[in-house]
Amino acid sequence: MNQPDISTIIIIGAGPGGLSLAQSIQKNHNSPEKKFNIKVFERETTPQERWQGCFISLNSQGVRWLLKCIPESVTNRLHEAIPDPIIDLETQNIYFCDHKGSLLLKSPAFKFKNFHEFSKLKSEFTGFSTYRDRLRDLLLEGIDVQWGKKCIGYEEDEEGVCAIFEDGSRVKGDFLIGADGINSPIRKQKIPELKMHDIGITDFIVDVFPKKGLVDRLNAITGKSIMKVTIGTNGDCMGCIYRYIPVDYSDLNNEPRYRMSMGYSYLTEKNEGVDYKADDLPTTKLPNDDEVLDEIKRRIKELRPEGELTSIILELWDLVKTRNEINKEQKYPHKAHYPLISRQLKDLDPLSVKEWETTRVTLIGDAVHAMNPWLALGTNSAIEDAFYLSEAFGKLNKDNWKENINHYEKEMRTRTSKYVIMSRKAMLRDHEHYHTFIGILFRNFRLKFLSKVMSIVAWWKGDEHD
Ligand SMILES: Cc1cc2nc3c(=O)[nH]c(=O)nc-3n(C[C@H](O)[C@H](O)[C@H](O)COP(=O)(O)OP(=O)(O)OC[C@H]3O[C@@H](n4cnc5c(N)ncnc54)[C@H](O)[C@@H]3O)c2cc1C
Repeated sequence: MNQPDISTIIIIGAGPGGLSLAQSIQKNHNSPEKKFNIKVFERETTPQERWQGCFISLNSQGVRWLLKCIPESVTNRLHEAIPDPIIDLETQNIYFCDHKGSLLLKSPAFKFKNFHEFSKLKSEFTGFSTYRDRLRDLLLEGIDVQWGKKCIGYEEDEEGVCAIFEDGSRVKGDFLIGADGINSPIRKQKIPELKMHDIGITDFIVDVFPKKGLVDRLNAITGKSIMKVTIGTNGDCMGCIYRYIPVDYSDLNNEPRYRMSMGYSYLTEKNEGVDYKADDLPTTKLPNDDEVLDEIKRRIKELRPEGELTSIILELWDLVKTRNEINKEQKYPHKAHYPLISRQLKDLDPLSVKEWETTRVTLIGDAVHAMNPWLALGTNSAIEDAFYLSEAFGKLNKDNWKENINHYEKEMRTRTSKYVIMSRKAMLRDHEHYHTFIGILFRNFRLKFLSKVMSIVAWWKGDEHD
């Protein structure tokens, strides 16, 4: 019997992109004739080193790609990361309201019982609120990740590629994939001309654990949608995403608490108050949670009118102070609960540079097309990249590898550039300052019209919704 043809693929980064790629190659493209030796390297020292965040929203297309990437054993456990919707309590759609809570836009509330049914929806403009940390844990199943390995660059020739790590080690392979996020050292070496674009918006994001009473008060104004955004008239927005599932350390005899990810964002001068570390997320110059929190509350009070919605928002932000205390039972023993940081939002448009030379080194996910979180498309497209790149590896042999990787890169650049630009435009539009009543009327009309369009498209595509 012939020996199988074996190629070594080095993946840098064990985020949703890198892990989906490893899963998909393992599931779809390892065969008796062709085997891939997959090596994943992650700078974090353990799976628990960094708090992975409470929630992200996956769209139906993202879940479809995910299901194509993961093996049956992971699919069977996917409800742990994407629990079934709780009928009567929550609807998996997006609700945009003004600063007082009046409805501006609501995406269709589709009817589905679980992620399988959700993945069959033809409309993409709604999300399923997904536990980000649990998804990461599931994607690790069966993947041999080497932790504590920070890649700092690579060397490449016609025959292969060698990843270089901070600890001085080097690993050789046939292909190298940069799945190493927005500050990717692989991208910086491969496409130095691809620069981050400063969107001109500052975003504070954090995870908190509100009690039922507070969430009920919010729902009384904004309904059962579990992804909510309130748009101010002075260029600020506040959004949150949660599930109506009590956290496992709620004292059920008392009032349940829920996990919630939230963000507050406002238009800002480009580069205002930001200190860019060479290899980390841009962080605020404010030194600790308390000072960041005071800054957020000061802005909310300054930019928003007094009223029930503003009070609720301030109470939600106050929970930042208690989140470590709440975690004293160490149910989530990660290093930090998504530290309260301010980010100057940045993105990367892969079509903003000329087509780069296709080599044995390529990129997926945020490493090559980071986008702001406004339309919640980042993870979805990282998973889609993973599927397409794994398909390219499936077709690859020693003569056609360049052609296949080039095909992946061309498609990925066009598809994801569109998402980057859409997210940039949508976020800036929703953060406009409105100085006149007519301006506000026009904004409200635009969003209400968009709401109707979404419903019509969903109806046209045959997706059942309320
Ligand atoms: C506040 C917020 C909310 C979001 N909400 C959504 C949402 O609702 N829906 C959605 O689809 N997307 C959302 N996103 C975007 C989403 O988080 C990213 O698009 C997604 O995580 C990209 O996955 P990735 O695997 O490409 O990169 P990452 O998730 O950044 O993973 C990269 C991995 O590489 C590792 N790494 C980095 N550098 C190195 C190195 N030098 N050596 C080794 N390892 C390295 C990192 O530690 C990390 O584990 C949100 C983002 C933010 C910030």
